[in-house]
Amino acid sequence: MKTVFIPAYDTEAAARCQAACETIVPLHRDMDVPATFFIVTRLLEGAERPRYAELLRDERFEIASHTVNHILIREQKALGLPAAPWETIASEVARSKRTIEEVFERPCEGLRAPCSFEDGLGGDTRLIECLHREGYRYSSSQAWGPQCTLPAPLAQARRYDAQGFPDLWEFPAHGWHENVLKGHNATPGRFLLWPPVYPDHLLSRCVKTPEEEFAVNRFFIDKAVELNAEFVSLIWHPWSLGRFDPEMTMLRLTFDYVRTLGLPFATYRDLRARRD
Ligand SMILES: [Zn+2]
Repeated sequence: MKTVFIPAYDTEAAARCQAACETIVPLHRDMDVPATFFIVTRLLEGAERPRYAELLRDERFEIASHTVNHILIREQKALGLPAAPWETIASEVARSKRTIEEVFERPCEGLRAPCSFEDGLGGDTRLIECLHREGYRYSSSQAWGPQCTLPAPLAQARRYDAQGFPDLWEFPAHGWHENVLKGHNATPGRFLLWPPVYPDHLLSRCVKTPEEEFAVNRFFIDKAVELNAEFVSLIWHPWSLGRFDPEMTMLRLTFDYVRTLGLPFATYRDLRARRD
């Protein structure tokens, strides 16, 4: 089976993500490319709701949870940040799903943990049980490499069966958090692993142009094909894409390249549906 490419966006900053989505969404429509939008649902509860609801209402798009307020659902060791209180986590896992289903009138199947983790939901049985109870069918919360480093390796789908929930899947995300690659939140150097997982992927500085960012994407796409991976999905944030590349040249280059290779596009929901 061919490797599929999943465009996915962590949509989290009210005005800045919305402004970027005004360019991202038409580009997806023009190129007929699907996407998964993981959204912080306070954007669907506030003044931004009508515009986000209009922009993202498209059969090509999957809308999934990025919690209500971008809270940490586990301790994030790479960033030195503690988890939110459990009552807040349980409430946001439930409420974000309900809000998406109410606004888009479709099931919300997945959750991407803000900031993500080295091992997804790990062995946190209480958290895994909570996602399962609320009706989530997958998590996409693994996006760091060994010892909390970047880039995130091309890890593939797995079940949370050891915790007793074999129908809850983890679909990791891959490569660099593009905001880090650009130095928007932190510089890449502090997250590098030695020796690296991919010694043939070397960067001496942050990317400075959309073409350089595309070259990084191409490395992970080519590597996924070489490894015969089921899927590859990079870690994108509309606010950071818009700040660096308002024309979204990188997206166009990346989607064209995926098409040139003859790889199909998909959403995370499609990946989960394969397992029914
Ligand atoms: Zn986020």
